[in-house]
Amino acid sequence: MLYTKKDMFWPDKFAEEIIKTKNHKPYWVDDMKTPSGRVHVGALRGVVIHGLIHQALLEKGKKSTYTYVINDMDPMDGFPRYLPENFKQYMGKPLYQIPSPEKGHKSMAKCYGQEFIDVFNGLGFKPKIIWSSQWYQQGKFNQVIKEALNNQGKIRKLYKKVSDTEKPKNWYPYQVICPECGKVGTTIVVGWDGKKVRFECKKDLVEWADGCGYKGEIEPINDNGKLMWKTDWAAHWKVIGVTIEGAGKDHMTEGGSHDQASAICEQVFKYSTPFAFLYEWFLAKGGIKMSSSKGVGVSAAEVAKTLPAEILRFLMVKTHYRKAIIFDPADNESILNLFDDCDRAAKIYFKEGVKNPVGRAWQLSQVEAVPKKPIFLPRFRDVVNYIQQPTVEVHKKFEEIKGRKLTEAEKEVLDKRVKYAKIWLKQYAPDEKKIGVVKNKVKVKLTEAQKKYLDLIIKLLEKDWQAEKLQQKLYEVAKENQINPKEAFQSIYLALTEKKFGPKAAWFLLAEEKKTIIKRFKEAING
Ligand SMILES: [Zn+2]
Repeated sequence: MLYTKKDMFWPDKFAEEIIKTKNHKPYWVDDMKTPSGRVHVGALRGVVIHGLIHQALLEKGKKSTYTYVINDMDPMDGFPRYLPENFKQYMGKPLYQIPSPEKGHKSMAKCYGQEFIDVFNGLGFKPKIIWSSQWYQQGKFNQVIKEALNNQGKIRKLYKKVSDTEKPKNWYPYQVICPECGKVGTTIVVGWDGKKVRFECKKDLVEWADGCGYKGEIEPINDNGKLMWKTDWAAHWKVIGVTIEGAGKDHMTEGGSHDQASAICEQVFKYSTPFAFLYEWFLAKGGIKMSSSKGVGVSAAEVAKTLPAEILRFLMVKTHYRKAIIFDPADNESILNLFDDCDRAAKIYFKEGVKNPVGRAWQLSQVEAVPKKPIFLPRFRDVVNYIQQPTVEVHKKFEEIKGRKLTEAEKEVLDKRVKYAKIWLKQYAPDEKKIGVVKNKVKVKLTEAQKKYLDLIIKLLEKDWQAEKLQQKLYEVAKENQINPKEAFQSIYLALTEKKFGPKAAWFLLAEEKKTIIKRFKEAING
């Protein structure tokens, strides 16, 4: 984690800074996403960052609103690999007009948009959802569309000034949804008389879609068309009343889309740019930025199925917004470490409270009400190990470890961890984490010291043991005989599983049939 004890946690810092400016009232936090395919886990970053700023403002006693825009007027401009071929015909159409690839939704936008909304609702973030197409249909954008068309020359000049982009004289920041073929990505406006726009649907305007060649005139109102990206972004700020909105770093480069939207917002729409900030990406395995349409990385819905909500939330809350999250669920240790980090943060919270940023991070990661007292948390790594041992009764095992009966709340946590440990084992676990006593004679090579150690352990096992005591004894025996403890413990795992790692040794030994253990040990000694 990035914080030292003295630091204020980042959402709190944001809230304080925003309040101090006095320029961003009423507090209205917003984020947005184009549902051009299954939304990838990376997009959760924006939801969480904006959601926490909103929460921090509320906790400071301020009135704040949090909205999330689904940009469903945008055209389909990339083809997700998982869509059937016949969806190619919809390339260029606005997403809210494309049929749903899955049953139960009105459109492709609704299908992928709702899937994503369900995920972040599950993480405890419940912004008010704005479906862009509905606001367009209701005429809420009519005024800004007119302002943008009337100020076409000014916008062109801003493009030149901010991003050194030359737009033709008869360029307009508006695209008509072609009344003939229904596409929006293929049309350009070529004239505006204050009442109607003249437009063409071009065959070769873009590479990813073919227009139909239609030429006509139409009133630029409601969902007859949409503003072009950047102008559209600025228009959303004004129409919704957004006062706080950050963006991923790809939008925040100098002269990039945010600079451009900001200039249009202030100089054309006469509306102040919302409080802005840049946040880092949430990166897929290998550092490739996740993209909805290319299908790189994993979808938010997929990741949400493999982690408990508060753990996935913790992953994003704990990481400073300017630091990239590199998440590889298939990496041997990443999920195991995440659970450990989270449990450690819980301990800090209950010991030091929210003054310690790590404690605050844990508190802000809770999806349900924050517990009043600390509870016993079964270590996820141990859960993974124990559920693989058929003779271990997991509840009993953790009562042993805790030293007392588990409370109802603790049982619930344990059951949840068992559920996710099974998922982890099935989907991500590398072979060395899958354990179990080998059924047949093992083929391992042990050092003389290791052979001696196992021989001593066979003698130990003649007695009945309590796990903690046995664990201690295993160490003592190694030390007394000048055997390196790591090497000693390895001999146990090697003899039983042919792997160098395993669950806590004493518990592992006591969970298995004594007869089998001794048999495997003897085979290993003589092997
Ligand atoms: Zn057309």
